[in-house]
Amino acid sequence: MTVTTEPVRVRFAPSPTGALHIGGARTALYNWLLARGSGGAFVLRIEDTDRERSTPENVEQILDALRWLELDWDEGPFSQAERAERHREQIERLLWEGDAYEHEGAVRLRVPDEGETVVTDVIRGTVTFPHSAIDDFVIRRSDGSPLYNLAVAVDDLDMGITHVVRGEDHLSNTPRQAMILRALGADPPVYAHLPLLHGTDGKKLSKRHGAASVQELRAAGYLPEAVRNYIALLGWGLDASTTFMTTDDLVKSFSLERVSKSPAVFDEQKLRWMNGRYLRELTPAELAARLESLLGREGLVGAAEVAQEKMQTLADFWPLAGFLVERQPPQEKAWERVMKNGALERLGAVRAALAEVEPFQEEQVEEALRAVVEEFGVKPKDVFQPLRVAITGGTISPGIFESVTALGRDEVLARIDSALERG
Ligand code: GLU
Repeated sequence: MTVTTEPVRVRFAPSPTGALHIGGARTALYNWLLARGSGGAFVLRIEDTDRERSTPENVEQILDALRWLELDWDEGPFSQAERAERHREQIERLLWEGDAYEHEGAVRLRVPDEGETVVTDVIRGTVTFPHSAIDDFVIRRSDGSPLYNLAVAVDDLDMGITHVVRGEDHLSNTPRQAMILRALGADPPVYAHLPLLHGTDGKKLSKRHGAASVQELRAAGYLPEAVRNYIALLGWGLDASTTFMTTDDLVKSFSLERVSKSPAVFDEQKLRWMNGRYLRELTPAELAARLESLLGREGLVGAAEVAQEKMQTLADFWPLAGFLVERQPPQEKAWERVMKNGALERLGAVRAALAEVEPFQEEQVEEALRAVVEEFGVKPKDVFQPLRVAITGGTISPGIFESVTALGRDEVLARIDSALERG
């Protein structure tokens, strides 16, 4: 079945009962890719009929997550709850035409006793639901409120949806929605039910597996383009080996036919690795701009350049290179471990050497520091670690020569002086 050549009309229809999870983000992405790849439309519909659990804050959170992922919608967001009048109108029509009947105040759709409803799913193939297993089901409660399957079917029809692409958990709703659509005189859309997402332990994806929502991915310092690339590959692939794909590539090559039936595994370590690759491809100015907006600071280009090679996420920046931006108080444990057995004496010699280095550049700085190592006849780390604690507050930093050079002579000497005073 070919589904991506004609312009498709697809929708993303989240229920705003919580944050946008990774599974939901993948559903949104696949729909968006299909719309963009075919020159069709991506409709956003908020399924907010559960009035207790659907809150405006949740809606805002979902829209925010989609904006951060840069998945722009062409129509909507429509509120399903606000369409209740239209849903009731269609229920009246089904009653009028005899496809539904009222019983004890509720309205039920007539399901034939015999036969079956066949759902053709692009991913799962033909799925047959015998009618013997489906009772006449309620489409309007006795209090007059329309039921979920009715609302979905009516909305999909009114919004001209050609392809319904959603999580596998909705497969069981599909025969009911298809029956309602047929009763309304419409052909059901093309269906595609996406495989579940699992964690690396094979269990259904949840918070236990690390970042579970888009908000959490954002706070953890992932780049939206890396997230799009990674989640596109959760259940889909161009071939067996292609890993890095720009969003443009994805738009060109994504197809439902290559979506797999088996559960996909979300592995945050792989995302971290991929994100690191994306980070390193940014220019220092681009990286700095991302960091500046995340941290609400300015002037981070120099520090970004130093940290770039070692970062996998934007959140790695501050622990790694925050010392270049502002002084970090020495960490007690690092201080106790390093500043002993003559460390301060060697630090004094380092100060004297760095005061003389000319020009204050990486190569010359390295030479001067190695000369101190030589002079004391110790291991390099016996000289470099005290210096590192003095200028960074801790024992982990980018390369020491690079760090010293990036900080500049005045600042390095000032920090060494406060360390010597403290010791
Ligand atoms: N509102 C449903 C959900 O959030 C999606 C329904 C659909 O895509 O048909 O799981």
